[in-house]
Amino acid sequence: MTERFSLKGQVAIVTGASRGLGYEMAKAIAESGAKVWITARGKERLEDAADKLRAEGLDVAVRAFDLSDGPSCVAAVNEIAEAEGRLDILVNNAGINAWEPLERATTATWDTVMNTNIRAPYLLCREAARHMVAKGYGRIVNIGSALAVVGRENVTAYVSSKHGLAGMTRAMAAELGAMGVTVNMMAPGYFLTEINTTILERPGYEKGVSSRISLGRWGDPEEAGGVVAFMVSKASSYMNGHVLVVDGGLTETFVLPVDAA
Ligand code: NDP
Repeated sequence: MTERFSLKGQVAIVTGASRGLGYEMAKAIAESGAKVWITARGKERLEDAADKLRAEGLDVAVRAFDLSDGPSCVAAVNEIAEAEGRLDILVNNAGINAWEPLERATTATWDTVMNTNIRAPYLLCREAARHMVAKGYGRIVNIGSALAVVGRENVTAYVSSKHGLAGMTRAMAAELGAMGVTVNMMAPGYFLTEINTTILERPGYEKGVSSRISLGRWGDPEEAGGVVAFMVSKASSYMNGHVLVVDGGLTETFVLPVDAA
């Protein structure tokens, strides 16, 4: 691996890394040489994920906590950074969705989604930035969604949280860039993970989505890992406040189903 992509000697935190996209991001970052702290609520699954990564010779540690618990977020970042003597990389990956038509939407759903998807990343970024600025180097990547750049029906809280996260990314990028800390967003399109379990049960949904994507298919979670490994490396040094959409062309190209084209 060339020096510019190497993360050797660096320490990273990846939230929501017990499965799905976060697991693949943690794997790719660890493969590039960093020690990666993976986090999630469920301890058992987190330990299983860590065992799998360690079996591949990767350097990982676990920290189980709930992102909706503010003090736990603050403690996690500070305790990891202090134990390691550094914190180079933060990937705010964990997120939740809630399908709820507006006429039936509840404040409780709004609060739950916002607490996990934007309040927690705010706290983690804020605490991590202090350690990174002190060393004059850091890479923060917030995981958004194609729904950080376009709207969709029946997911108002989720769309709002991801648009807000894009704004927060740009605001922090403006403030931290000159201090050596870049802040960017990777915005995934449709990937086959558990977050999509309910929509995948809808007849024809998986194929219907594929027919709107110019690559003609859903993303493989592995395809999210490499992009984020680049974004947290020195190779991305002139990228700041950017929202990088990784969606097989969904939001960038206009594709009609074959029989309508
Ligand atoms: P998954 O549902 O597969 O995984 C979510 C991860 O986050 C799990 O490790 C989960 O572990 C953890 N998590 C969830 N809630 C909390 C919480 N309150 N505290 C701590 N950890 C939590 O999601 P994906 O991998 O699909 O998604 C990852 C990110 O990518 C999310 O931000 C999502 O919005 C975004 N995204 C995904 C898309 C897709 O198609 N998959 C499309 C667009 C965006 P546990 O439950 O044990 O806490």
